[in-house]
Amino acid sequence: MRKKIVAGNWKMNNDLSQTQTLLNDLKKQVLPENVAIIVAPSFTNLYAAFESLRDHKIEVAAQNMHQSDAGAFTGEVSAAMLKSVGVKTVIVGHSERRSYYNEDNSVLSEKVNTALDNGMHIIFCFGEELDQRKAGNHYEVVKEQLEEGLFHISEENFKNIVLAYEPVWAIGTGETATPDQAQQMHHFIRETVAENYSEAIANQVSIVYGGSVKPNNVTEIFSQPDVDGGLIGGASLSAESFMAIVNAFQ
Ligand code: PGA
Repeated sequence: MRKKIVAGNWKMNNDLSQTQTLLNDLKKQVLPENVAIIVAPSFTNLYAAFESLRDHKIEVAAQNMHQSDAGAFTGEVSAAMLKSVGVKTVIVGHSERRSYYNEDNSVLSEKVNTALDNGMHIIFCFGEELDQRKAGNHYEVVKEQLEEGLFHISEENFKNIVLAYEPVWAIGTGETATPDQAQQMHHFIRETVAENYSEAIANQVSIVYGGSVKPNNVTEIFSQPDVDGGLIGGASLSAESFMAIVNAFQ
């Protein structure tokens, strides 16, 4: 049985008190045992989140980190800094990082290496843009993102990876991939992992979907055989909608 995962990517939302309020709301909920739940607050609130969730089932992730260990990189945050505040998981390759901050596959492959060297888990995001899907290149684009950003790592290290397929045209747009589109791509991703690693690794890696997942569309998406959960943006900002998504697995 593959691990089911629901992760909330809070992006640049929630100051300290809003973070504490949302975490307190989440901590009041009865959480399903069979789903790993992760929240990714902003850097400034990671330590408070870690403290608030100490000994709690919900895990804390960072939304990004720098590829270098330390140095003159004004405004950046290192893996060691994240680990020092209790963070063991990092999101790498989110489309907003790729497009607004020019993070290409080569930089992302360095971030992957640094995170792994520091013993961290990675939620590795990738997905095609609208014109690439319209041109019918989406499988090619996704394969290239995986090959150039991730597939250099060892089979052993691959166990620390969660794959997050997020078609860019579905992020924050209210437009979700249809359950069929998600399933077809997730199946393709699993086959690609099998070709590059092994069937066993492909069957074991969790592949989550992201892009306008909401309480009203989650059930169909999560019921697809190759969809192992979600990376949730907008709908992770309230405990009610996030929990409705978490509970869609039951
Ligand atoms: P969204 O964001 O759920 O608001 O579309 C998803 C994401 O960017 O991870």
